[in-house]
Amino acid sequence: MKNKEIAIVGAGITGLTAGWMLQKAGYHVTLFERRSWAGGAIRTDNSQGWLVEYGPNTMRLKSKRVQEFLNAAGLGKRIEKANPDAHKRFIVKNGTLQKVPVSVGDFIRTPLLSTSGKLKILKEPFIRREHKPDETLASFIRRRLGDEVLEYAVNPFIAGIYAGSPDRLSVKHAFPKLYQIEQESGSLTKGFIKRAVSGNKEDTIKTRLISFSNGLQELPDTLLKSIGKIHLDTEVERVQRNQEGWEIQAGGFRFGAFDKLILNIPLYHFSEQFINGGAGILDICQIAEYPPLSVVMTGYESSQVRHPLDGFGFLVPENENRQILGSLFNSTLFPGRAPKEKVLITSFVGGSRQPELAKLDSDRIKKLVTGELKDLLSIEGEPLFFDHVFWPNSIPQYTVQYERVYEAVEYLERQHSGLKIAGNFRGGIALPDCIANGLNLAEEIIVEKN
Ligand SMILES: Cc1cc2nc3c(=O)[nH]c(=O)nc-3n(C[C@H](O)[C@H](O)[C@H](O)COP(=O)(O)OP(=O)(O)OC[C@H]3O[C@@H](n4cnc5c(N)ncnc54)[C@H](O)[C@@H]3O)c2cc1C
Repeated sequence: MKNKEIAIVGAGITGLTAGWMLQKAGYHVTLFERRSWAGGAIRTDNSQGWLVEYGPNTMRLKSKRVQEFLNAAGLGKRIEKANPDAHKRFIVKNGTLQKVPVSVGDFIRTPLLSTSGKLKILKEPFIRREHKPDETLASFIRRRLGDEVLEYAVNPFIAGIYAGSPDRLSVKHAFPKLYQIEQESGSLTKGFIKRAVSGNKEDTIKTRLISFSNGLQELPDTLLKSIGKIHLDTEVERVQRNQEGWEIQAGGFRFGAFDKLILNIPLYHFSEQFINGGAGILDICQIAEYPPLSVVMTGYESSQVRHPLDGFGFLVPENENRQILGSLFNSTLFPGRAPKEKVLITSFVGGSRQPELAKLDSDRIKKLVTGELKDLLSIEGEPLFFDHVFWPNSIPQYTVQYERVYEAVEYLERQHSGLKIAGNFRGGIALPDCIANGLNLAEEIIVEKN
């Protein structure tokens, strides 16, 4: 078979998914990863009965295609569904945890929004559409749903998903569905109702929040086993195309020749030393923001915590002036992640909101997080388990004018025959988006061959 030799640089979930599918289709896949393990942002650790996730904690599964992929990869039986209690989420208001409304009754009663804030939502269908080429999420929400929804729903939600800020993200690029709905239906309310009634449900299954029995690390570990040749602890220094195909330089060695090269590395690694770019193109890749983030795990005896931890966790709006972005109740989400009679909580510090806090050393982070948890969850005493990981560059922010980044990446692909660039900076940051993008990428390569 021609065009059969594939190199993948970076063992993130996107590249691993593409590699799994290509290997199954008969290609020879060679993977290069600078760390000693696969998974990129996905990293699970199990120490003395505390099962902790340093990166993603859950996957929101709602695509039939992604579910079928997990089954085909042999992970169907390993899926662990989140505790049904996890549908309950909290937002901090005036220093206390308030339940996020999930029914009309809840909505009427919730103290998260004032009566005028609630009325503003009901008026949404009558607000005229605006044709803005791009706009921040904050401006979009303020315009359509009002300041209170922005401050007490969207702001904490963005801190929880992107470690970001609605003042920086582009509605068009970070939430393309919202942007499209306003353009097509004139209103979010009308658009969502229309989609619910007539939407394409072919690829949709009932949404489930999942992980795997031994944590999310099972996903990359399983996919890695399908790859033909694996070079871990191998940092690629340069890639270049010559007459025979793609050549990879790593640790003083040259590998090649490959027909196709998949780069699954973050955008900040794209430099002139790494790949021939072109005037200004690689500089544009560098404008993508990746805020720093600290992830902090604390474990307590159940008896130390007065709050019942009966939900997914809580998020903190910026105007509450706290030092954490939010926390997950891991041992409620997936029972068994903490030893018996103990509870595990994961908290997030920093992001675009407070980047300097993310960089504090472990002792100071511990003091900061345990202080906030003590106050918000009525905890007595010190944690009996503590762990901390610092992500200097956490999650790419799809900011206003992000199309410049997309254009630069597409330009690089056009300039270099056989080059594919993939990762969470393109087409969504959530794990199911990365998986879908990995599958699409493999299909593209398979079609190109024919
Ligand atoms: C703290 C945190 C929490 C998150 N929580 C969730 C969540 O709960 N749910 C969810 O759906 N998503 C979550 N995400 C997002 C999701 O985990 C990521 O978007 C996704 O895992 C990124 O995958 P990727 O394919 O872009 O590759 P990446 O994970 O970015 O991996 C890239 C790989 O390339 C390697 N690499 C880089 N340079 C080189 C080189 N020169 N040579 C060789 N290898 C190289 C790196 O070591 C890395 O392994 C979270 C992310 C973070 C950071």
